[in-house]
Amino acid sequence: MKTVAAELAFFLRGQARKNLKLLIVYCCFLFTMVLVYAMVFRHLMWYLEGREYSIIAGIYWTITVMTTLGFGDITFHSEPGYIFAALVTISGVIFLLILLPFGMISLFIAPWIEERIRYRPPPELPNDMQGHVLIFGIDAVTRALMRKMQGRRMPFVVIAANHDEAYALEAQGLRVLYGIPTDSAFLSGARVAQARYIISNLGDPETINLSLTVRTLCETPIAVIAEEPEHVELLRLAGANQAIPLSRILGRYLAIRATTRGAKAHVLDSFGTLLIAEIPLYGTPFVGRTLEQISLRQQTNLAVIGLWERGVFSIPRRDSLLSEKALMVLAGTQEQLVALERLIDEKSGEDLVFVLGHGRIGCAAASYLDNMGVPFVLVDQQENPHCEEHSAVVGDATSRALLWKSGIARARGLIVTTNDDNSNIFMTLAARHSNSHIRIVARANREENVDQLYAAGADFVVSNASVGASILTNVLENKESIYLSEGIGVFRRPLPPNLAGMRLNEAHIRRQTGCSVVAIENSESAEPLIMPPPETVLEAGSDLILIGSPEQEEDFNRTFR
Ligand code: AMP
Ligand code: ZN
Repeated sequence: MKTVAAELAFFLRGQARKNLKLLIVYCCFLFTMVLVYAMVFRHLMWYLEGREYSIIAGIYWTITVMTTLGFGDITFHSEPGYIFAALVTISGVIFLLILLPFGMISLFIAPWIEERIRYRPPPELPNDMQGHVLIFGIDAVTRALMRKMQGRRMPFVVIAANHDEAYALEAQGLRVLYGIPTDSAFLSGARVAQARYIISNLGDPETINLSLTVRTLCETPIAVIAEEPEHVELLRLAGANQAIPLSRILGRYLAIRATTRGAKAHVLDSFGTLLIAEIPLYGTPFVGRTLEQISLRQQTNLAVIGLWERGVFSIPRRDSLLSEKALMVLAGTQEQLVALERLIDEKSGEDLVFVLGHGRIGCAAASYLDNMGVPFVLVDQQENPHCEEHSAVVGDATSRALLWKSGIARARGLIVTTNDDNSNIFMTLAARHSNSHIRIVARANREENVDQLYAAGADFVVSNASVGASILTNVLENKESIYLSEGIGVFRRPLPPNLAGMRLNEAHIRRQTGCSVVAIENSESAEPLIMPPPETVLEAGSDLILIGSPEQEEDFNRTFR
C-alpha cells in the first residue's frame, strides 16, 4: 500500500503536478462538450422528430456515440440527425479516444517510466555532513525507529539495498544512499566518521562485516540487532558497541507476562538495587480486591507503580480494583519480590503455558519459562533446527483439534508467537472464544496489528517493531530508560536544582509533566526510597526515577531543563 502511495506521489510533484492541472482542465472541457451535445440532441430530437428525451437520456446517448459503443436503442431517423450523430462520433474519436490516451501517455506514463529508468540514488553525502545516524537494513523495526526519529527531529540517512527500494524510500521523503554497506569507499562517502551513530539490522554475518569495515575507518559508535542471541559476543568482537539480542528480549517479555510463577523472574530491569517487575494478576489471590485491601506494601514493602489492562496503562489509586485481566508493575528489591513469590505461591495452583510458535522468539520464551519452573507445551509447524533444548508438538497451531489433543484445556497461559500475524490473530480469537479466563500474551510482527490482537482477546500484546525501535532510540539518546511496553517507560533524571529543598507535593511534577516519581535515590543512602510519600523533602544531588510515556518524558525534559 505504501509503495502504491509512494508511486502516486510522483504525480503530485514538479512538472507532473502541472500536467495534472492540464488534465483536469481537459476533463472539464470534455464534460462541457458532452453537456452541449446532450442539449443539442434533445432539441434536434424534438424539432426534427417530435420525440422528447430527458437530459440524462441525452448524456447517455452522447457518451455511447462518442465512445463508438452505439447501442442503437436511441437513434435519429432524419438526415440532419444523421449528420449530427456523425459529428458527435468523430469528435468522440478525436477528443476521447485519441487525444485523451495520447495525453495520458505523453504527460504522465512516459515521464513516470523515464524518471524510474533515469533514477540514480545518490552514492554519497555532502563533505560537510555530520551528526547523522546511518541506518542499514530496512524492516518493521527500523521503519518504526525512523518514525520515532522523525518525531524527534534526529537527522538520519537510510542505506537502501537496491534501486527500487531507494526510489520508494526517497519518494516517502527519506534521505537515502545506495551502495554496498561493506565497501569502505562507500562508507567514506556516507561520511561514516562524522556520523553520530550507525544502526544495523542486516543479518548477523553482514553486520559483522560492516562493523569490521567501519572500525578500519573510524570509531563512530555502532548499535546492532543480533539475529541470533549467540552471536552477541561475535558482534561485539567485530566492533559493535551495542548488540541487542531482540528475539531473546521479546521472548522474555512474552514469558514474564504469561505466568505468575516466580515473581523474581518478572524483573524487567533495574536501577541499582531498585528492580522494576511486572506480574499478571490472573491466578493470584489479589484478583477482585482493591489495592488497599491486598496491602501489598505492608506485607512485602513492594510498591505497585502501575497497572496495565489490555494495552492501557494507569497509575493506580488505593481504591483501584484489581481485575484478573490486569498486570501489576512493581518497584522494589530482590528480597521484596521473593516475599511476593511466597505470598502468591502459597495460594496459586499449578501453572501450564502453551507456546504457539517455536522460532527464535518462542524458543527464548520457552527457556525463560523453563528457568521459572513453569511447565509449558511448544507447538510449531516445523522442527526448530537451532534448538536442541526443547521438544515441540509438530503441527499447525491454528488447528484446534491439534491443540485440544495436546491438552490446551488445562493451560492457564498462552503465548502466541508465530511470524504470521493473521495466524496470531486467529489463534488469539479461537483461544479466547473457548476459554474466557486464559492469559493470552500475543506477539505483533507488525505494529498495525496490535489493535486487532487486543480486539481478538489478547491480554497483552508485544510488538517486535516497537520494542526494537524503543530500545534503539534509548541507545541513540544515551538514556538510562527501562522499556516497559508500548508507550510507557521508566527513566532516571537528576533532581532539577530548582526543586531542591521542596516537598514532593510542592514540586507538582505530575501536574506539570504527567510523569510520576516512582523512587528517589539519594547519593548517600544505598536503598532507594520507593513510592515516596508526598511530604518527602527533595534533597539536592539526589536522582528521581520516574514513570511516564515518551511524550511525558519530553515534557519533563522541557519543563526542568
Ligand atoms: P520466529 O519468527 O523465528 O519466532 O519464528 C516463527 C515460528 O512460527 C516459525 O518457527 C514458524 O514455523 C512458526 N509458525 C508460523 N506459522 C505457524 C502456524 N500456523 N502453526 C505453527 N507454527 C507456525
Ligand atoms: Zn527451543
